[in-house]
Amino acid sequence: MKKIAVLTSGGDSPGMNAAVRAVMRSCKHFGYQAVGVRFGYRGLIEGDFIDFRDTDASGIIQRGGTILKSARSEEFRTEEGRKKAADQLRAKGIDALVTIGGDGTFRGATILGQEHGVNVIGVPGTIDNDLIGSDETIGYDTALNTAMEAIDKIRDTADAHERLFLVEVMGRDAGFIALETGIGSGAELIILPEKRTDLDEIRESLKEILKVQRRSTLVIIAEGDESGGALKISEKLEPDFKDYEMRVCILGHIQRGGNPTAHDRVLASRLGYEAVKAIHNGLNEVMVGVINNKVQITPLHETFGVKKEINYDLIELYKVLR
Ligand code: ATP
Repeated sequence: MKKIAVLTSGGDSPGMNAAVRAVMRSCKHFGYQAVGVRFGYRGLIEGDFIDFRDTDASGIIQRGGTILKSARSEEFRTEEGRKKAADQLRAKGIDALVTIGGDGTFRGATILGQEHGVNVIGVPGTIDNDLIGSDETIGYDTALNTAMEAIDKIRDTADAHERLFLVEVMGRDAGFIALETGIGSGAELIILPEKRTDLDEIRESLKEILKVQRRSTLVIIAEGDESGGALKISEKLEPDFKDYEMRVCILGHIQRGGNPTAHDRVLASRLGYEAVKAIHNGLNEVMVGVINNKVQITPLHETFGVKKEINYDLIELYKVLR
């Protein structure tokens, strides 16, 4: 019986469990044996395998985090580390590897495939949504909603005290979460890594906004903004806004946790199934994604190194509506 291994790697994202479940159930459907790898590439190097039983797929679709655990592995970045990983796969009799993660995970998988002939398939799982080949990645929608709910609460307290809040959301290199939570929460300003941050311009915009008196003002900042995030920006702005109470809130890891939304569960279920189907159809070194609600297969090496664009129309939109 063909054996298919699955691992989760890089930053965890809500919906990874739904994807793992879908891989397990789809393997059963196609007549393959599913094997879990704990702790991403680190576990692969160590041979930390789980022979899944049918019951392992039960009761996990709604759970955040990843039952397989995730890790970052420096050793896997070395030729020696990847050889150990390939040896473990061979020793365990694995025929193909499904990797659920972000661009780093796919870089690693691509090199493993090239060096050792491993059949690799990528499933996009990262809250950052920064992968081309899929309109959305698993976990993005949940992170967006978690951030927005938190920002709604900050808005309540900001209103009560007429405060100016700088809220930092996740997004190391991409402003997807910042842009969409900013629109969803009616933020007055959104600061993104995709646009050069001009502090003078921000100062002027804020002054204009504060002139037209508001109960509160929210500025949403992506953590990866080149200006250094919410704390650094507040230090630079504070001297010019002494009349306002300026507060910084860094949302941090709450954005990774929680039960996945319906959208993420369905996306993850779809992609887990498509990954196994891709192996069944003899595909190799591809990522499965969804574009315009249709399954999209993209060569794995095309999913990294190219930056996915945010929707610049949304920037114009928020400026009209704020
Ligand atoms: P996220 O976007 O959520 O952080 P990610 O998959 O991009 O997820 P990374 O930490 O960048 O997370 O990558 C996960 C793992 O993939 C790394 O710990 C490393 O083991 C492996 N990896 C990343 N880049 C490479 C590379 N260039 N060569 C070999 N392995 C790599």
